[in-house]
Amino acid sequence: MITIYKREQCCGCEACANICPKDCIEMEADNEGFLYPHVDENKCISCGLCERVCPFINTNLSNGVNQGLAMQAKDKELLKECASGGVYSVLAKEITSAGGYAIGASINNDTVKHTVLNDSISVVSHSSSKYSQSRTFSIYKETKQLLERYPNHKVLFSGTPCQVLALKNYLGHEYNNLYTIDVVCAGVMSPRILSDYVHYMEGRKGSKISKLNFKFKEYGYASFTTKLLFDCGDEYSRSRLTDYLIKVFTAHIADRPSCGACLVKGDKRASDISIFDCWHFVELTGKDDNDLGHTNVLVRTAKGQELLETYKNCFDMYDVNWQEAIHWDGNMVYGIQKHHPKRQEFFYHLNEGGLEYAIQKVIPVTCSDKIKEKLKRPLYKIGLIKLAGRINKKYFS
Ligand SMILES: Cc1cc2nc3c(=O)[nH]c(=O)nc-3n(C[C@H](O)[C@H](O)[C@H](O)COP(=O)(O)OP(=O)(O)OC[C@H]3O[C@@H](n4cnc5c(N)ncnc54)[C@H](O)[C@@H]3O)c2cc1C
Ligand code: SF4
Ligand code: SF4
Ligand code: SF4
Repeated sequence: MITIYKREQCCGCEACANICPKDCIEMEADNEGFLYPHVDENKCISCGLCERVCPFINTNLSNGVNQGLAMQAKDKELLKECASGGVYSVLAKEITSAGGYAIGASINNDTVKHTVLNDSISVVSHSSSKYSQSRTFSIYKETKQLLERYPNHKVLFSGTPCQVLALKNYLGHEYNNLYTIDVVCAGVMSPRILSDYVHYMEGRKGSKISKLNFKFKEYGYASFTTKLLFDCGDEYSRSRLTDYLIKVFTAHIADRPSCGACLVKGDKRASDISIFDCWHFVELTGKDDNDLGHTNVLVRTAKGQELLETYKNCFDMYDVNWQEAIHWDGNMVYGIQKHHPKRQEFFYHLNEGGLEYAIQKVIPVTCSDKIKEKLKRPLYKIGLIKLAGRINKKYFS
């Protein structure tokens, strides 16, 4: 039976709750908003399946890197909606167009959750990075059902490295029609921050948010912003200087405890393909950068290679030295992101007075931040943001 002795030892993937034959594992939120399994001991039959699937107990990472690529979607409308070069989104679009299935993270009001899609129009709901932890609910169970029910269709699963490992542990063996992609990951933020943020912003505007993008290329790829559309028609976009959502994420002050002790690091993973930001496209390829975003891709398996070969005409694709790609842009391939030293203080104030109060107490937005934010649009128009972005590219370091 799964027992959590330390919060760092559970990444909240929900695989244990998916596998339990007695349905006796409930995911319950702690006072930081992170979910942990809670076992009803009266129903548990001590079968041990929950421990077998747990990625923090069975950390079998066997797929090394075979090839490095920098890629950008040719579909520029879709590319606009993507975090970087749109690698997942294009593959998902092609696979669903051919009758297959794509599984990834979408935002539903104030929650991020994994969903299954099989129409190419909805693929955009999986596009771009949502930095709040995604709920998986019964996604591993559903993925297994799809793999077995539709053996002649491709099923593409994407998620954080621990979610992909959780899926592989849950399945227990390889499926020919399964393709997996993980996002190289610094950590996931508490779902509570997103929920508090949505309610705070809707209250301030007096209107519901109809669309939320954590990472919009408003001022080019080098300088991303959080963008909101409201039902009343108003738009909002701000950078991490003044926007509370992206500020909390980039400060790493509300990341899941397990992310500071992540076991899914190093050049081996459970996935077929890993994707991450490509800030150093010029250095890696010697080509000009159009500032629309490229994705660094680590191809790990023959299946990963086959997938990219099948859909190569949908991308501008460049061979890169994968060790160099990790050196320039992939500090989170090997590295573990440290929690902010005032993390505990932040959650204390969050529980005491809410999101704005906690931010102003611990990581305040200053007058100088507000002035810099105001200058962004005119500086972008005259090209200075792109230049500054090229000088200081590492947003996550
Ligand atoms: C929580 C998180 C942390 C990240 N940290 C880093 C980092 O430190 N350094 C770095 O280089 N890149 C990081 N990335 C990856 C990066 O932001 C892009 O996902 C990557 O560049 C691929 O872009 P793309 O345009 O090819 O993907 P897109 O085509 O835009 O597809 C987005 C993909 O991200 C997945 N996804 C989105 N949100 C979540 C979520 N909450 N949980 C699980 N999967 C999700 C979707 O399912 C989809 O597969 C992170 C991504 C996430 C989600
Ligand atoms: S040991 Fe078996 S029955 Fe008990 S909680 Fe784990 S999976 Fe469920
Ligand atoms: S890491 Fe996943 S499988 Fe392991 S205990 Fe936590 S939720 Fe369950
Ligand atoms: S940092 Fe590690 S534990 Fe946290 S979400 Fe990413 S892969 Fe999972």
